Amino acid sequence: MYKTNIQSIYLEKRFPLRISRGVRAGSSNLFVEISDENGNTGIGEGAPGGSEGAADIESAMKIAQEHLSQNPDFSHPVSHYRASLNNGLAPCVLAAFDIALWDLLAKQAKLPLHRLLGLPAPHGITSMTIGIMTAEEARERVQILFENGRIYHALKIKLGNPEGIEADQQMYNAIYPFAKENNISLRVDANGGWSVEDAKKMMSWLAERNCDYVEQPLVEGDEHRLSEIFQNRPLPIYVDESCRFASQIKNYSDSVDGVNLKLMKCGGITGALEILNTARAHNLKTMIGCMSESSISIGAGAALTGIIDHIDLDSHLNLNPDVAEGLQLNNGMILPDSNNYSGHGSVLK
Ligand SMILES: [Mg+2]
Repeated sequence: MYKTNIQSIYLEKRFPLRISRGVRAGSSNLFVEISDENGNTGIGEGAPGGSEGAADIESAMKIAQEHLSQNPDFSHPVSHYRASLNNGLAPCVLAAFDIALWDLLAKQAKLPLHRLLGLPAPHGITSMTIGIMTAEEARERVQILFENGRIYHALKIKLGNPEGIEADQQMYNAIYPFAKENNISLRVDANGGWSVEDAKKMMSWLAERNCDYVEQPLVEGDEHRLSEIFQNRPLPIYVDESCRFASQIKNYSDSVDGVNLKLMKCGGITGALEILNTARAHNLKTMIGCMSESSISIGAGAALTGIIDHIDLDSHLNLNPDVAEGLQLNNGMILPDSNNYSGHGSVLK
């Protein structure tokens, strides 16, 4: 018999994050705990989002309650994932249950989650995200981020400014000299904010300024136009919003270089493993990103990083305070802060 507890917790951001679609200062997330009769408890987290099936915490809590009232089968995360997805459970709510079930299974086996999954240890530097802002604000933000000796080896700059690509270029130019001087990699996420023409112009411009790759240049729904910017591309192209589930990858596998998975889009660890396997089968690179999440779901994502090319697990670093603990920023990498842990390694404070 399993005991379940669900709750919402407010996460306040240190810096409000602005992207091409709007600005956020904080959010409430869904936390799911599933306990067995032997005292093991798995914990998972879901960040509500309109595109992930629950626009706000009220609807996420309601959907989670309804899911529990249907007595879901918690005997294995994969069967739970399949059945729940078939029943139309919102991916961000499913993610909270799926992460909790994998965490529980790993704790029952007394193994770190990556070992239960047969994966190498968490690895790889994370990008730190800088939202859309003015050039002056960007210059200040970089100074603040790196104060007190904090080390990030990569910055992800959010472009696709509604004011146009000149504003994008001004913001990038504000960060570029600092990055060059300090040997910091730069990546760009347009969040679908560019037209085909903008994307072509910006990719050429960015390629001359040490940018590693661009993410989601075109808006979700315009995947059929990716081939127009893929041909003769000066930079690798990754899709994020366009890749929610593994089943979509075949639609654009010949017009992108890689896919960015998020646990909230695909419904947790189970969906993420499907994306990683499918991407690899199509010879695509992989990336893992996050929504507004605490260390709980970031820890779950970190468990997969041993087989992922680019890591963007930084939302917990922009919380004041993080409501969970168990991870450290070690030489630019998100790693468990203990060698002796089971599950994903993160717990609520
Ligand atoms: Mg993105």
